[in-house]
Parts: sequence; C-alpha cells; structure tokens
Amino acid sequence: MNNIKKYFLSIFIILFLLSFTASLFAQDTLSIYFFDVGQGDSSIIIAPDNKVVMIDSGPDESLILKYLQNLEISQIDLLIATHAHADHITGMNKIIAKYKPKAFIDPGIPHTTATYQRMITAIDKYNINYYEGISRKINLGSLSLTILPPATPLIKGSELNNNSVVVRLDYKDFSCLFTGDIEKEREGQLLAESRGNLNVDILKIAHHGSSSSSSPLFIKSVGPKIAVICCGQGNKYGHPHQETISLLQSLGIEIYRTDLSGTILIKTDGIDYQIFTEKESIRAPPVVKTETKTTETQEYKYAASKKSEVFHYIYCSYVKKIKQEELILFKTREEAIASGRRPCKKCKP
Ligand SMILES: [Zn+2]
Ligand SMILES: [Zn+2]
Repeated sequence: MNNIKKYFLSIFIILFLLSFTASLFAQDTLSIYFFDVGQGDSSIIIAPDNKVVMIDSGPDESLILKYLQNLEISQIDLLIATHAHADHITGMNKIIAKYKPKAFIDPGIPHTTATYQRMITAIDKYNINYYEGISRKINLGSLSLTILPPATPLIKGSELNNNSVVVRLDYKDFSCLFTGDIEKEREGQLLAESRGNLNVDILKIAHHGSSSSSSPLFIKSVGPKIAVICCGQGNKYGHPHQETISLLQSLGIEIYRTDLSGTILIKTDGIDYQIFTEKESIRAPPVVKTETKTTETQEYKYAASKKSEVFHYIYCSYVKKIKQEELILFKTREEAIASGRRPCKKCKP
C-alpha cells in the first residue's frame, strides 16, 4: 500500500471511530434510570434537551433524594405517581418541595395514609399543576408520553394497583412501557383499549414481578426485548414470582432486576439502546451490554383456539375464553390464514 492510500485509510479509521464514539455520547441520548430503591418502584427519564420526567419515588425518602442529587437533577418537568401505595410515593412531598415539578399526574384515587396526604398537601402548598390521570398525549421536547389512565369504571379488585397510571414513552423508534402495579385484569383491558397496539422495546414489569400481573397474553402482545423488574432483595412477597420469570424466559425476553443488578440505566439514541447495570450479578448480564434492535418483532396480534376454525385479534372478547393450553398466537394475519382459519365475525381481524 502506498503512503497516500495509508494516509486515507488511517483518516477513514479515525473518522469511523470518532463517529462511533460520537453516536454513543451524542447530544441526542435519552437516559432512563430504574433506581434500586429496594422493594418499590422509581424511575427517571432524562431527555437530550434536559426535560426530566420522574415516575414514582420508591419507599425510601432519603435514598431517592440522594439519587436525584447524585444525578444533579435541577428540575422536574413532569412528576407521575402511578398509584398511592407507599412503595411508589414515599418522599414525594420532599421531591415536590425541592424541585417544584412543572406538572404532576396521579390516578386521582385518594388514599388514607399519611404518605399520600403529605403528597397531596405538597401539591396544594406549592401550587403544582395537577393533572388527574386521564387519557392524554404529552409532547415534552423530543419525548412523547402517552398517559393511559385507570379504566372507567375503576376496577374494584385490588383497586389501587389495578388503577395505576400507565405510561408509554416514545423517543424516535424507541419505546418503553411503565406499568405501575397493574394486575392481570387491567392488563387485559389495556390490550383491548389499545387494540393490541402496545408493542414496546422495554417493559417495566408490573407489580414487581408478581404472578398476579404479567398474563401470558399481555406479555406476548407487548412483546418486549427487555423486561425490567424493580424489587427488593429478599422481599417478603417473594417478588419476582417464579411464574413471571419462567414466562419471560420461555419467550426469550431478557430480564434485568434491580434486586440483583442494582440501578439499571438504559441509554438510547432513539434507534439502538444500551443497558448498564450498577452491580454485576450472577443472573444479570455483564455490566455493560449493547442491545441492537432488530426489525424482527415478537409481537403477537392474532389468536385462535386449537379447537376452532376462527381467528381473532388478541383483544377480542372471545380470546379471553380460550383455555391457556388451547391458545395459539400469530404474528401476522397471513400466518393466521395459512393455519386454515377464517377471521372472526365480531372483531374482524
Ligand atoms: Zn408496588
Ligand atoms: Zn401497589
């Protein structure tokens, strides 16, 4: 190789490396932290234009304030309390007092605890814009948030959990769903309300991995590549339950757990994403891991019973009646047709 060629080759390599590094640390990187708060939930989304959205505050006031301080958070654009349980809203009053968020959302379902009362008192005292959790799209700079509010009428069983505010985050091609503590009943409704269009890259598993949440149909339909479970080491509820873990594993969904890995950080440029974990652990993957999105999707949109000649959208009410062992799922309409079935007359897939 002559010198000129060598010269151009080295320039090329330098440019390539520069662009690679730049893409990792570019200004357009969005970060999501799933904090290790023990047995509870707290996460924060930091957008490239420094818009900050915080969802829940966990069970430990001093811990969450320390995390926010360490991250040098100076303002919060939107603060969301998914529901009024103490493992999600402890210290909200202090966060409100210190950061005076520009807006606050909760399901609007009162609770009798002092923790809840303190949160609501702080909202009033600091005159925070209060938005009751109703269906809405919020565009915050480059972020798009979809607020999926409690069902009307409210679900009576496990009322606070099931009526959690659910949040979908979209940033360019990247998406993440924050499910609070919803249980199977609400998951089923969400599938129906979204007409099966809930597919995201990353799913914050509902209710700390409890088996009362994460129905196979919901998980298959949402079809995440990555599942994040926020729970405390050795918690008294046995979260995450083996049933949930086995389901996720059987679907090839990679699991990250705050009890094993500490705080989990996801960084994305809106196309690819990388996952960083605070601690190395036996079951969690290495500390730094690159996930490259593929176009292949795991999303299932259609369902049928092994015993029937009809196929449905997965949210069709007939699907609920199919026994788990008789349920088959299809990713595409063509696959369903190819199985020799005809479309349901009710949901018209
Ligand atoms: Zn909880
Ligand atoms: Zn709860």
